[in-house]
Amino acid sequence: MPKTGRKPADETAPAYLGIYLFCYPVYALGPGRRVGLWTRGCSIRCEGCVSGDAWSFGGSEPADVDELSGRIRDIFKNESPDGLSISGGEPFDQSAPLIRLLRNLSVSGIRDILIFTGYRIGDITARHAEISELAAAVVDGPFEKGNDTEACWKGSANQTLTLFRPEFAERYSRWIAAKKGRLQIFSDERGVFVIGVPRQKDVQKIREWREFSPMAEKRAIPGAGEEFQV
Ligand code: SF4
Repeated sequence: MPKTGRKPADETAPAYLGIYLFCYPVYALGPGRRVGLWTRGCSIRCEGCVSGDAWSFGGSEPADVDELSGRIRDIFKNESPDGLSISGGEPFDQSAPLIRLLRNLSVSGIRDILIFTGYRIGDITARHAEISELAAAVVDGPFEKGNDTEACWKGSANQTLTLFRPEFAERYSRWIAAKKGRLQIFSDERGVFVIGVPRQKDVQKIREWREFSPMAEKRAIPGAGEEFQV
């Protein structure tokens, strides 16, 4: 074998994933009741992105991927959610730990994994061919300000959904037929998070509401899993 001078990747070494938010149950990002995972950091930085708070790659301790896999596995074992949704930030900006997480979950039999990415699906599959084995579906493409859509599953009309697992065709076709209107609030010691894909015209109102934290507290923010309509 020729020597390349490169060491092979040590797949047993600990891997770490920067995480912005981990939440269960999530009802406003994907079909059914889901585990939600938002990675930290995005290099794409689309104008008007609603997730600007998650652009930074720093700001919190990254999570050990194998421990995180166990945490997700436990939720699936004890609560039987419909699936896992992964968004960000940009998940594929941390592709090595992301793929390791997906492989771990695949070994555990977790099959409905939905990933949101600002990259194009062709670039993702060219770089990570196994994604079609590891994910059930991918929503791809950068956010385009001014190109609004009523579809509940995307922020701008240019984005597309690729379904890799035909066994989930029915649940995903019902989900992508739905219109916007469902968002969800989650709060922890850091503040208030709005989960879901809002209409572009509502983004500024949501930002103002979130930043006005005393008012948010007076509104008796519901706990994880409760929803409100906008
Ligand atoms: S929409 Fe997604 S890809 Fe675009 S800047 Fe926001 S987090 Fe990054």
